[in-house]
Amino acid sequence: MSIAEKIKIPDEELQTILNSAGIATFNCHFPTDTFIVSERYMEMFDFDKGSKPSIHDIPARIHPDDLDYRNEIIKVAFITGTINYEVRIVHRDRSIHWVRVNGSITFDENKQPISSIGIVTDVTKEKNILQSLEEKELRLRLAMDVSKLGIWDLDFTTDDIIYSEKVAEILGHPPSAILTHQQMVDQIYPDDKKIVEDALAAAKQNGIYVYNARFIRPDNSVIWAHMKGKVIFNEGVPIRVYGTMTDITENRIIDEMKTTLAAIVASSEDAIVSKRLDGIVTSWNNSAERIFGYTPEEMIGQHISKIIPPDRLNEETTIIETLKKGLRVEHFETKRLTKDGRLLDVSLAISPLKNSNGMIIGASKVARDITEQKKIIRDLQESEAKFRLLADSMPQKIWTSDIKGNLNYFNKAVYDESGLQYEDIYNYGWMDVVHPDDKEENIRRWKHSIDTGEDFILEHRLRGYTGEYRWQLSRAIPQKDCNGNIQMWVGTSTDIHQIKESEEQKDFFISIASHELKTPVTSIKGYVQILLSIYAKKEDTFLNNALLTIDKQIITLTTLIGDLLDMSKIKTGALELEKQQFDINTLVEETVKEIRYATPAHSINITKPGNNIEVFADKRRISQALINFLTNAVKYSPNNHQVDVTVTANNKEVHVSVRDYGIGIDRQEHEKIFERFYRVEGKDEKTYPGFGIGLFIASEIIKKHSGKIMVTSEKGKGSTFSFIIPTHN
Ligand code: ADP
Repeated sequence: MSIAEKIKIPDEELQTILNSAGIATFNCHFPTDTFIVSERYMEMFDFDKGSKPSIHDIPARIHPDDLDYRNEIIKVAFITGTINYEVRIVHRDRSIHWVRVNGSITFDENKQPISSIGIVTDVTKEKNILQSLEEKELRLRLAMDVSKLGIWDLDFTTDDIIYSEKVAEILGHPPSAILTHQQMVDQIYPDDKKIVEDALAAAKQNGIYVYNARFIRPDNSVIWAHMKGKVIFNEGVPIRVYGTMTDITENRIIDEMKTTLAAIVASSEDAIVSKRLDGIVTSWNNSAERIFGYTPEEMIGQHISKIIPPDRLNEETTIIETLKKGLRVEHFETKRLTKDGRLLDVSLAISPLKNSNGMIIGASKVARDITEQKKIIRDLQESEAKFRLLADSMPQKIWTSDIKGNLNYFNKAVYDESGLQYEDIYNYGWMDVVHPDDKEENIRRWKHSIDTGEDFILEHRLRGYTGEYRWQLSRAIPQKDCNGNIQMWVGTSTDIHQIKESEEQKDFFISIASHELKTPVTSIKGYVQILLSIYAKKEDTFLNNALLTIDKQIITLTTLIGDLLDMSKIKTGALELEKQQFDINTLVEETVKEIRYATPAHSINITKPGNNIEVFADKRRISQALINFLTNAVKYSPNNHQVDVTVTANNKEVHVSVRDYGIGIDRQEHEKIFERFYRVEGKDEKTYPGFGIGLFIASEIIKKHSGKIMVTSEKGKGSTFSFIIPTHN
């Protein structure tokens, strides 16, 4: 059935309609090889008017590139019965025309093709438009690919996203990676998720989708992307958004660097200025304004000589010459002028500025105001000079050391007295002038102070320029910073030679006198004892009392002489111990008994372990120490007559203490009372007789026993004196 029959229009009429619509028709009868075509067909396929083309002439008209494709289609059409294809027809004038062929093939009862019939439409125009569109898109795609632009298209209704390879690449995936929209959203840097959400919300309102945000790539690197898109609405409802994605990481880094750099320049304490080679200022930061007083408006475009003192203008020429050679000028100290005419001390660092071709076009200059610093240095120099003068005019020797104990300064007195030069002390050390016998102790104490930070104090002999050694009292105190860290040590050495000599003479005298006194006093004591035994039975009370008083005073005198003799022995190292095995409990009891007898007004209690406590010690000396504790306890507690003696022991040592409830001792005196001749100076204490040597001797005795002597006391509440000695040798 022909098309005309199908649509019930007479053939001629149909032909006219089709011709005027530009549509060509063809009809081919295969058994007879008849090929009937319309006028329009002849034009389309470039056949001469009036000629009779055969079906076999058609392939010659088809573009060679399209021929295979067309033959394939025809082959299929002989099976399916449907013809449907588009090809290019090449006219003899070489012009190309696109045609669309639609038709059908009819078959007989044996499935043999009988005829084909169809229409042909010229689609050149349509094709050209499409082709140019495709070309345009290709060009755009190419342009996008070489730029950093990715394109995407997101369907809001399905959340499907179409995107170019560049998008995948920007997000750190292979170009061919297949990503869902959600996967892309998951890559947004957590802190930036809000930015993206806000941008999308705004886009759904105003149609413009734009934001900058960071994305985390699969390799954990972070990139910055710029998104720009347009929303498409359908009846007011946003249905899709499409746009571009640009990798702006590099720009962001550069921007951040620029911002940081600008912030550094702006906030710098130093003046940062740049100028051209002709001296015209091109930039001027806040500190430049603060230091020199000129605003950027007053300086930019002006010559730098505005801040250079006239007598220093030639410096500028030298600086420019140096810069031209591409060299830097570092820490150049000079003077500059402020707007209000003040002269400032400045330190300059100047570097050449180059353009992109490497040509030197100017200089950047960092100027630091060092006026204050200079003043401090001058003040310091002045005060140091003052200090030196002061130190040098002192008769005392003054020295300093670093924290490691290396002596590094000596005043004039040190050089004058020792006759040494700085080099001598530097080369041979300070120790060279210390007496050989004092060196070891000197080194030990100095090392101890350096290690512990405790004050250094030592009496030692130093050699003078005459070669004679003189006694010195050396002290050093650590100087600390605000955090308590030692910075240095300051020491002094004072000549105490004369004091030492007179002390030695005094000791010598005490030793001689006590020796000489001992024999006559002992014989007086003997005679008094005889006289007492003779006259005790007689009625002469006066004589009896007089003899008793003499006897008491002689005991005091004997004790004093004994103490003085002991002191001399301690001084010369002649105090020998005569050790023996004895029970400390018995010794304490006997000693207390003696004191009770002499001081009946006081009640002395003893607390001690039941068993014997054997010690190996000098019985007489231990008793002497205990007597000292007891007599003091009685002497210094006039208003409270109770004294408690306690003995405790373990298998290693024995502890004996004497507690009184008397006048007590201030905390700061606790250590000093064990020194020779030391007595607490108070209005109370003055009333008690004594020489301040009892505790000194007691402590030396205990020390000799490798023991320990201690005091705990509070002013007004009484004292506890005790000693600990080892029980075994
Ligand atoms: P003194 O002969 O002066 O008593 P000591 O060497 O025995 O000499 O004692 C030294 C100083 O210690 C005394 O002058 C005294 O000030 C103080 N002192 C000693 N024992 C006591 C005590 N039990 N109570 C208060 N002060 C004491």
